[in-house]
Amino acid sequence: MTNLRADLKLVVGAATAKALAKGLKIETVSDLLRHYPRRYAERGQLTDIAGLELGEHATVMARIERVNKRRMKARSGTLLEMVITDGKRRLQCTFFNQAWREKELVPGKNGLFAGKVTAFRDVLQLANPEYELFDADRQAEAMDDFLAEIIPVYPAAQGIPTWVIAKAVRQVLDVLEVDEDPMPIELLAQYGLPSLESALRGIHRPSGWDALNSARRRLKWDEAMAVQLIFAQRRHSLVSRPAKACPHTEGGILDAFDKRLPFALTSGQQEIGEEIARDLSTEHPMNRLLQGEVGSGKTVVALRAMLQVVDSGRQAAMLAPTEVLAAQHARSLREMLGDLGQAGELGGAENATRVTLLTGSMGAKERKKALLETVSGEAGIVVGTHALIQDTVSFADLGLVVVDEQHRFGVEQRDALRSRGSDETSPHVLVMTATPIPRTVAMTVYGDLETSALRVMPAGRSPIKTSVVPVAERPAWLDRAWQRVREECGKGHQAYIVCPRIGDEPASDKGDKRPALAVLDVAPELAEGPLKGLKIGALHGRMPADDKDAVMQAFAKGDLDVLVATTVIEVGVNVPNATAMVIMDADRFGISQLHQLRGRVGRGSVPGLCLLVTETLDGTTTRERLAAVESTTDGFELSRMDLELRREGDILGAAQSGKKSTLKLLSLLQDEEVIAEARARASEIVEKDPALGNYLGLAHMIADVVDEDRVEYLEKS
Ligand code: ADP
Ligand code: MG
Repeated sequence: MTNLRADLKLVVGAATAKALAKGLKIETVSDLLRHYPRRYAERGQLTDIAGLELGEHATVMARIERVNKRRMKARSGTLLEMVITDGKRRLQCTFFNQAWREKELVPGKNGLFAGKVTAFRDVLQLANPEYELFDADRQAEAMDDFLAEIIPVYPAAQGIPTWVIAKAVRQVLDVLEVDEDPMPIELLAQYGLPSLESALRGIHRPSGWDALNSARRRLKWDEAMAVQLIFAQRRHSLVSRPAKACPHTEGGILDAFDKRLPFALTSGQQEIGEEIARDLSTEHPMNRLLQGEVGSGKTVVALRAMLQVVDSGRQAAMLAPTEVLAAQHARSLREMLGDLGQAGELGGAENATRVTLLTGSMGAKERKKALLETVSGEAGIVVGTHALIQDTVSFADLGLVVVDEQHRFGVEQRDALRSRGSDETSPHVLVMTATPIPRTVAMTVYGDLETSALRVMPAGRSPIKTSVVPVAERPAWLDRAWQRVREECGKGHQAYIVCPRIGDEPASDKGDKRPALAVLDVAPELAEGPLKGLKIGALHGRMPADDKDAVMQAFAKGDLDVLVATTVIEVGVNVPNATAMVIMDADRFGISQLHQLRGRVGRGSVPGLCLLVTETLDGTTTRERLAAVESTTDGFELSRMDLELRREGDILGAAQSGKKSTLKLLSLLQDEEVIAEARARASEIVEKDPALGNYLGLAHMIADVVDEDRVEYLEKS
């Protein structure tokens, strides 16, 4: 009998144990049993060769079609050439100086063949493959597996093919006894999950497809639970630190601010505002992520939180990714506050506070003044870059840190700022992101934070109408697009034309795709052709800063009708009079980038128009991406579609290879419910028993299922 913690050597022998460790980092019985089949072959069904990818280490079930031995002229020796087939396509295999194999490689026989897929003169090859034939003689050893209907195919590596893994698994399963299920029995009952032992048997040697599905469901729960327990423990340890409570103050600046807000808060702003207000009034630090697209009203939410803290006599810091954005934030906070932000100035309101900007590039005198305001507490709100919290800047009493996160902010940085409170307390933390991410990604990538999403845009936004212009199928639509641009300009509005490339790069003839359209080519072509007579400017990132400024100013003032640009306009350009955007070679951009880009039009009171020009054909994945952008302006919906259209491996890195990875079965796309339920159950368990002292099984399972490195990766990526 053996259990999950047993020494693998004792069961499978030293040689196999060593090969498993070397090739696949499998060290324990548990590692081996958590190395799940990548797929299953059905007895008698050959693998579709068309599905193979160049460079991958593949295992195929195929039939030997013909074998041919030749003497090599150049070198002495023999070359054994074999062709295997799935019945439709062929794969060429070659063996050098292994003529003896000719006896066993008999045409007509089926087997598993494993090796790296390469191509030589357009013919797919497996060079020096390892193989296991399904014939009567060799069946004795492999019998169990090859008599089964469903044959597991494992992620394999050179020198450790799938059938060796299958045999080791079989040896382990023959003597396995899982003495205790790590998952609480109530949980198994609640979700109708099989025991660990039966799930492990079911995934490696399924008796049928139903048994396999139920096994997979249970093992997905293991993964979801392990990851969510780690996050729940982290959240627990964060919130169990002390923080200063900043409850709402009747008649403070916040109330005064609310009274004079020129608009009503959206339902989302209201709800999240209440959540934050509650978080701030407890004696433990808030750790919250606020998601919402550009323009969804995050800044107002953040400012209201900051004012609640200022009302309690503490300070708030707001961090931006760049100095320019920090200056912008300071300006807009001051604007929103009006005289409520002019403490100590002429005309400042009675209970006013002060917004202080503190950046590295300030002159010495200005910086000294800002530092003084910060340390004295005169500044209720201090705005700066991340340097603000890493520097030697002292706060009188820092109560809240708001991070406007353009790029993702690592866990260590979040930790660094948590240690910035006065005395032993941690400040409250609010992280804001403008990139909508699907719920499952938020729950795994930002698992240590509570998340809130602003999904409703403030009323009165102009809608953006998006259309795909498929020039390959409908060339006339492109003329119509230019006509629309002329119409908009004729009404006194302006337009952007976006190109993927600048056009001053050295020519490269790599690849078969034509180079993407470039600003420096398209601008003169339009000026001479379809947009003749309009005032056209060009803008890209490699222009000297002064020229760039001049062009942007000219466009902002309305001196230019049309701006032909790269994606430099994605950030920071705000011209409400621009109502149309034409994106050339739109298929070269990703979904979220297209969505960000079109956000540049429709900023004023007139509806925006966005045209996605592409040569791609209907029915391709690329066209599906464009159709998705056309179909909705809901950033969350788009991020979900993006997840669906991307190969999922892209999100958590390559989980396909034999490398040990955390989420082998769990899919961020399909298993939202499992992830959400596991998160709730994990929180309950950790609430009751933070160290998992009464759940030793779970504690062990975390170690079995999750590679610590991977968790770090999940958080940082
Ligand atoms: P974000 O920070 O999410 O990009 P902002 O908070 O800067 O968005 O809001 C964008 C614009 O919308 C600002 O001009 C702001 O004053 C305005 N705004 C915010 N909330 C509302 C609302 N509830 N109703 C109308 N306008 C709003
Ligand atoms: Mg903002």
